[in-house]
Amino acid sequence: MSRGELNAVHAPAVLRPRSTVNAGTLIIGASQAGLQLAVTLRGRGDTAPITLVGDEPHAPYQRPPLSKEYLAGDADHGSVALRTPAWYAETGITLISGEQVTDLALSPGSHPGGAAITAAGRQLTFDRLALTVGAGARRLDVPGADLGGICYLRDLDDATRLRSQLADASRVVVVGGGFIGLEAAAAARNQGKTVTVVEAAERLMWRNVAPVVSEFYRQAHERRGTHVQLSATVTAFTGEGGRVRGVVLADGTELQADVVVVGIGVVPRTELAERIGLECDGGIVVDAHARTSVPFVVAAGDCTARPHPLTGEGRVRLESVQNAQAQAAVAAATLLGSIEDPRSVPWFWSNQGDLRLQIAGLSFGYDTVVVRGTPDSERFSVLYYEDDRLLAVDAVNSPVDYMVVRKALDRGTTIDADKAADAAIPLKSLLGAGTEAAA
Ligand SMILES: Cc1cc2nc3c(=O)[nH]c(=O)nc-3n(C[C@H](O)[C@H](O)[C@H](O)COP(=O)(O)OP(=O)(O)OC[C@H]3O[C@@H](n4cnc5c(N)ncnc54)[C@H](O)[C@@H]3O)c2cc1C
Repeated sequence: MSRGELNAVHAPAVLRPRSTVNAGTLIIGASQAGLQLAVTLRGRGDTAPITLVGDEPHAPYQRPPLSKEYLAGDADHGSVALRTPAWYAETGITLISGEQVTDLALSPGSHPGGAAITAAGRQLTFDRLALTVGAGARRLDVPGADLGGICYLRDLDDATRLRSQLADASRVVVVGGGFIGLEAAAAARNQGKTVTVVEAAERLMWRNVAPVVSEFYRQAHERRGTHVQLSATVTAFTGEGGRVRGVVLADGTELQADVVVVGIGVVPRTELAERIGLECDGGIVVDAHARTSVPFVVAAGDCTARPHPLTGEGRVRLESVQNAQAQAAVAAATLLGSIEDPRSVPWFWSNQGDLRLQIAGLSFGYDTVVVRGTPDSERFSVLYYEDDRLLAVDAVNSPVDYMVVRKALDRGTTIDADKAADAAIPLKSLLGAGTEAAA
């Protein structure tokens, strides 16, 4: 497709291509999902050219350590990288870093090709297209939001900035009591900072865990010296000399701060998908095989709104490494014309200091929870059920319970709830004893 055709399909972009490259399979978004897609294509014997293009100036890396080991100073740029530079050359995968794709068009008709333009003016023609563009940090739009010292935590550059700002800070306010906010809070507290977490909802991690788990985490963070303010909304930041000095809450309270970490969720990046007319609804809509509304275009990872990975029902948007990898592997198979069983058990982890939370399954829609062990011991698990069907587990410092539930979900079996409530009975002994769950 020529640049003229590209402009004919969509409003003209200002850029003129300075060079044209045949990308082969073009994967836009060079992170967990994009890389996995390329790896799977090669693993399945695909020898066609693959081009992985990302707008960050770094080769693909892992995000989970950014709010954990990296912030604590126990990981560096090299240790979070997903592959060595040599690997890309060895596998024949062209990695273009630091170039945002700004325009995209599909060939007319049902031919699975098209062209993309990058901000550097490069035109990439492609035979197959995958969108793995992830999500961006949701911004807090209140007065003072541009002051220095207000940090977000989505990418490596954010984490490097935050790490250096923390070094000189003594008072840290974390806005948002979700996984990332709480991980950052724990890292700051471990460095001896005075830390306050401000959460607008009535409880921590409210979207993902049951109230018993939220309350456990509130108490556990407080025990470690982090102050937690619930039902508190930030209305403004105050500053001095261009730097943040305070966080103003709706009730008029002002919390002093040298550094603020904002972790209030993400927004899926759907701009390019919208540009080529793909259906988007809180993410790029895909089916179980990672096909978008234009079936020869696939999408995977945080940017997608997808069917439930176990039941195939409804539509969920998942933000996890497991989902990015599993969905990307499915997308690669689809690109190669192989339609396979896409079922996978979702799993996730969140290390908040010495508290290790492991989640298997998705708890949405639960009607019953079973608590195994006592939260006060800082070692317990919560099993979620709907109509006696096991949905998920949140395991706090309880890796065995986590593994057993993961296995049960993988097999499509349940675990008897009454027996599971007795922590003296090893969960493993109940595996397989339950009734078959309708997967
Ligand atoms: C701090 C932090 C901690 C986390 N901790 C955990 C954890 O403990 N466990 C867990 O399971 N998950 C965790 N996650 C979530 C996990 O990292 C994500 O689910 C995963 O990275 C999703 O991968 P992805 O490839 O779909 O998207 P992303 O990782 O968001 O990657 C998308 C990439 O596409 C690029 N891009 C977007 N648009 C364009 C464009 N137009 N042109 C070029 N490039 C583009 C983006 O810049 C980005 O590099 C964490 C995330 C963060 C930020």
